[in-house]
Amino acid sequence: MTVHAALAGYDPAQTRTDCLRHDRARLLRPSWAELDFGALSRNVAATRKRVGPDVRIYFVCKGDGFGFGAAAVAKAAERAGVDGFCAGSPDEVVSIRSTGTTLPVLLFASTIPADLPAAARLGATVTVQSIADAEAVIAAGEAIEVFVEVDCGLGRYGLRREQWPGVLQRLRAAGHVAVRGLYSHLSAPDDPATSRDQAALFRQAAADAAAAGHDDLTLMLASSRVVLAYPDMLFNAVDPGRLIYGGGLDENWMEIGALSPLLKAVKSRIIQIQEHPPGTVLGIGYGAPIAIAHGMRTAVAPIGFWDGLNHIPPLGEVLIRGRRCPVLGRRTFQHSVLDVTALGDVALGDEVVVLGRQGTEEISIHDLARAIGIPVIELVPRLARCLPHVYVDEAQERGGPGE
Ligand SMILES: *Cc1c(COP(=O)(O)O)cnc(C)c1O
Repeated sequence: MTVHAALAGYDPAQTRTDCLRHDRARLLRPSWAELDFGALSRNVAATRKRVGPDVRIYFVCKGDGFGFGAAAVAKAAERAGVDGFCAGSPDEVVSIRSTGTTLPVLLFASTIPADLPAAARLGATVTVQSIADAEAVIAAGEAIEVFVEVDCGLGRYGLRREQWPGVLQRLRAAGHVAVRGLYSHLSAPDDPATSRDQAALFRQAAADAAAAGHDDLTLMLASSRVVLAYPDMLFNAVDPGRLIYGGGLDENWMEIGALSPLLKAVKSRIIQIQEHPPGTVLGIGYGAPIAIAHGMRTAVAPIGFWDGLNHIPPLGEVLIRGRRCPVLGRRTFQHSVLDVTALGDVALGDEVVVLGRQGTEEISIHDLARAIGIPVIELVPRLARCLPHVYVDEAQERGGPGE
């Protein structure tokens, strides 16, 4: 396996860990996430194939690109052929713009209305999702590009149905506000009947916008599961996130999409090994005491709940030397205690696989999510956000998103 070396002023040959991105490195603590940006490119290509050449792909980079780094994922996705980005906060707009991209960046609802003009000046197309938002962009008196978000049943934000015609007419009359698009987000993509009803409402919103005089709108309703399940709801743009990260979707959707995970592995190394004689009682990590009847060998990996894992059991298993080893007691802030009694041979520095493949064994993200009781949609960005990133894709050697 090749690893992207981007650690400025730091000699990776001197460490046991592989080369970490310099801004995320925690020197010498051997716990990391392996990212495969080739997978992201393949997922963009698969999405393009699915939606066709004429539907624009607005790649969702909220949550700092689901924890993978908004600039890094945006750069890789632009190279792979997306048409725009969605950001979850103004600082993510700045991150995405720092790549030099000239593609549109839609800012999802995230600021108070009074801050919308300032957010637009960062290089965003801002979301108008309430009457207060509409009044704020009108009152700013400057040219502002907006997407209008309508609520078709999610009940989060977005203009309610009775507000559509009035607000769309008022934005049109203001003149200086350029409405470029209209979008919504479905509440139950797994339920075809509800989704069809909500898509019909969205068509009504598009008709209201046209009646108010807004032309050439980007119409966007399809997040990942909608792209996969409803080819008749793609309109002229889609806004997938998880489809392109190849993670965070239920197993059946992963299969339907034939997705490759950007989060390829989570690994650590053994920093300590201890033999416990029969008769020992261990309260590992403040957990319930374990009485050792026949002797036990434990190992410690420096990865804990600060790294996005959980504290209280169930804690699941890890792979060491291709074998499954249980995690004992409670996981602490930065450590996991592992039962390695069954391993014939084990050594300091041995690789510990929390997520991924080792030998013939594999712990998938779905295995891990089930084992530790954290939903996969929550687990992927937690791990990605908390751990240092190591790039494991050949293409990154030739100029990856971390430069
Ligand atoms: C989070 C989000 C998305 C992306 O959802 P995925 O299921 O990850 O594709 C798209 N649109 C909106 C409005 C969102 O909030």
